[in-house]
Amino acid sequence: MPAPSAPTPIDWHARAAGLKPPTDALIDGRPVPAISGSTFDVVNPATEEVLVSVSACDAADVDAAVVAARRAFDDGRWSRLSAAERGAVLNRFADLLLDHSDELALLVTLEMGKAITDSLDVEIPGAAAVFRYYGEVIDKIPGELPPTADGSVAMVRRVPLGVIGAVVPWNFPLDIAAWKLAPALAAGNSVVLKPAEESPLSALRMAEIALDAGIPAGVFNVVPGLGATAGAALGRHPDVDCLTFTGSTEVGKKFLAYSAESNMKQVWLECGGKSPNIVFADCADLEQAAEMACFGIFGNQGEVCSANSRLLIQRDIVDEFAAALIDKAAAYLPGDPLDPASSAGAMVSRKQLDLVLRYIDRAHTDGRIILGGNRIGDTGFFLEPTVVTDLPVDSPVVTDEIFGPLLAMIPFDTEEEAVALANDTPYGLAASVWTASLDRALRVSEALHAGTVSINTVDALSPGTPFGGFKGSGFGADLSIHAIDKFTGLKTTWIARR
Ligand code: NAD
Repeated sequence: MPAPSAPTPIDWHARAAGLKPPTDALIDGRPVPAISGSTFDVVNPATEEVLVSVSACDAADVDAAVVAARRAFDDGRWSRLSAAERGAVLNRFADLLLDHSDELALLVTLEMGKAITDSLDVEIPGAAAVFRYYGEVIDKIPGELPPTADGSVAMVRRVPLGVIGAVVPWNFPLDIAAWKLAPALAAGNSVVLKPAEESPLSALRMAEIALDAGIPAGVFNVVPGLGATAGAALGRHPDVDCLTFTGSTEVGKKFLAYSAESNMKQVWLECGGKSPNIVFADCADLEQAAEMACFGIFGNQGEVCSANSRLLIQRDIVDEFAAALIDKAAAYLPGDPLDPASSAGAMVSRKQLDLVLRYIDRAHTDGRIILGGNRIGDTGFFLEPTVVTDLPVDSPVVTDEIFGPLLAMIPFDTEEEAVALANDTPYGLAASVWTASLDRALRVSEALHAGTVSINTVDALSPGTPFGGFKGSGFGADLSIHAIDKFTGLKTTWIARR
């Protein structure tokens, strides 16, 4: 029998040339242009070419989407299905997302620049896993019968809130959308999603696939548009019951104001970070720690809210660790995002590239660059993995969230100093600790003010564990069974025996 032939590699450039992404809003199950007729351009960050122009929704379109979502919620086409029925549809949706992996991955890579292997291996399976998790868990959440006085019974249930607005960023356009959509939809709500202006294409296609999976028209609507118009309109809408947001701390604060100035809708915020990665001299495997430190800051071009952007290294191992780090960082030199051999792609936009380059200028003044520091080529927003040392701890390179492949290396002497440096930030999203001592790992983990502490790894995450932060990183963790709480209210029904 002849040996099975190897699968033909996909020609991603040819696929990209033949792609026809959706460009209109998706409201009430139908593609609709913006009422104003306005559009905005979506640019391929690897080539700087305009991919397509997309409908620029404003307050009128957002209102139409909220009206459709409210109608769908009130007539019960989704909200009054049993939890098991909704769960089955979400599982089907997860299957269909995987069936459309190639197309969705291509859209993500074209619109925001990440390497196609990251889109294929992380983004799409990640989103599918989250829909599957909530699809499977939603019919296994019991209500309560608290003890009451003789002669009465009180039933306590979680009920959906109604219309959920979701405003998301571009760095993981489908995953982070899934973190909001899956628990909100599983609980029976209707959703209006406002994707980032850099990455509306994958979100629009995902919503079309949701219809094919059996999520009824009007239950999942997408309004592409600019933050200050479409995002603000959703935040201010008087008939949105809850607004869930991931993005910068600066914009997160605006949503609190929008809520206060409109209908006091609930607001859940996942915002920025400046996460520390602490490597103690007793770390069991420095090579692995260096490899993961690179993944923690250079993966996804450093455009990760929980990126390990501050590397705190015990002084005895600074030189040895820096050498290992520089060696491993070579794997993250960006290349053509459509080449499956690339492990990093382009930064999302010229604005983001310029912002990181300004911090690199500052790093030249405040410290010493030991790796990278340059844009690659003249076309496309490609940046070398960059490591800076000898920085004062109050340098903006150390204190600010930069959202790019720029690592600040900071030596420390004692465990107490490491913890103090790690906690010296307005953020509290994530932290990593490398040590062979269980006692130290637990002690330091206790002392760190971060929503997730990863020990002997970086950025650990799963659909079943909460992801969220403290302080300027926001509140109301995504993922896990707890996320259901954000999109439901507790309802008590009393029965008196006569
Ligand atoms: P951003 O805050 O600029 O935008 C996020 C979303 O908010 C986008 O959809 C945008 O259109 C919208 N928006 C912008 N201005 C608005 C306004 N005035 N009113 C209403 N909506 C508005 O963030 P970004 O540049 O898209 O993403 C990068 C930021 O996101 C970083 O700060 C990063 O830390 C954060 N982030 C956090 C997490 C997390 O889970 N904590 C995950 C990913 C990204």
